[in-house]
Amino acid sequence: MLTHLIILLDDTCVSYCHYNVPHVDHRLISLDDLKAGIVWAMKENVNIQFVYPDYKLPDEYNQAIASIDHTKIKPVKQGQDADVVVLTDWKVSAVDDLHHTTCIVHASRNDLSSHLTTLKEILSQVARLNIVLTDVADFTDADIDDYKLLLSKLSDIVEEQLKLGKNVQMNLLTDRLMLDEMNNCNAGVSNVTLAPDGRFYLCPAFYYDKSKGHIGGLRQGLNIKNPQLLQLDHAPICRKCDAWQCRRCVWLNEQLTLDCNTPSHQQCVMAHLERNASRNLLVRLEEEGFRYGSTHRIEEMKELDPFNTYKQWK
Ligand code: SF4
Ligand code: SF4
Repeated sequence: MLTHLIILLDDTCVSYCHYNVPHVDHRLISLDDLKAGIVWAMKENVNIQFVYPDYKLPDEYNQAIASIDHTKIKPVKQGQDADVVVLTDWKVSAVDDLHHTTCIVHASRNDLSSHLTTLKEILSQVARLNIVLTDVADFTDADIDDYKLLLSKLSDIVEEQLKLGKNVQMNLLTDRLMLDEMNNCNAGVSNVTLAPDGRFYLCPAFYYDKSKGHIGGLRQGLNIKNPQLLQLDHAPICRKCDAWQCRRCVWLNEQLTLDCNTPSHQQCVMAHLERNASRNLLVRLEEEGFRYGSTHRIEEMKELDPFNTYKQWK
């Protein structure tokens, strides 16, 4: 069921997920399309998430946005009234006033490894840290040990903060501790995106990746071909998987396997390394007598790609 409409206010809106934004020239959504998008969301009874660029919007846009309940996703420099801020560089001073905010760090694995001290500082300040990796497509089996090491260092940071009494959340490591079912991105199922061209897309990544095409527009309505292919119950590998924190990114699936419901080796291996790192963190916390919310037991698993055990489920 559709529950969210994401509205990209400009071509240069900050990226909050795996994709990069290729545009540098501003192109605001037209005021008419913004208002029509708000009306569409009201009629469909869905919540709106506005994604902002790195400059102040004209007053008439702010007035239209203020006319409806919404969530603001903003680059950190514009983030004073944001619900979610995206860190666009590693200057921590910019997050000094962001207590109780959800912060998204959008970075490559190497970039994260080089900024662990900054990550620790961010985690100590915000209510939730979401790390979105920009280089999933480049991951190879030769990177497994390095990613394990990075996750282990991130686990140390989470553990240290917990011991200091802070109730931290870091998507890659703590989500799996709390989940008891899949919690994926659900692009095209629970959310769609309205872009500055007045058309709908499965998510912002599909707007910026012009080869992928749109799924209708404000005037002609939503038109998702074969919508069942986006659903978990039509994804034979994912529906049996228990890396519940995985984004199950349909954009990466299309890019890497040419099929939106077939996951890539890269995404599966990385998600399983995160799952296993979450398990290790939980074991360590329990050994030391720490409780982390209402956590669930996570079985030990050596296989990193569910594709390799697929035959066993038939
Ligand atoms: S790890 Fe792979 S199989 Fe599991 S949910 Fe993610 S993409 Fe699907
Ligand atoms: S499909 Fe979902 S996880 Fe993938 S880039 Fe789009 S919003 Fe992000």
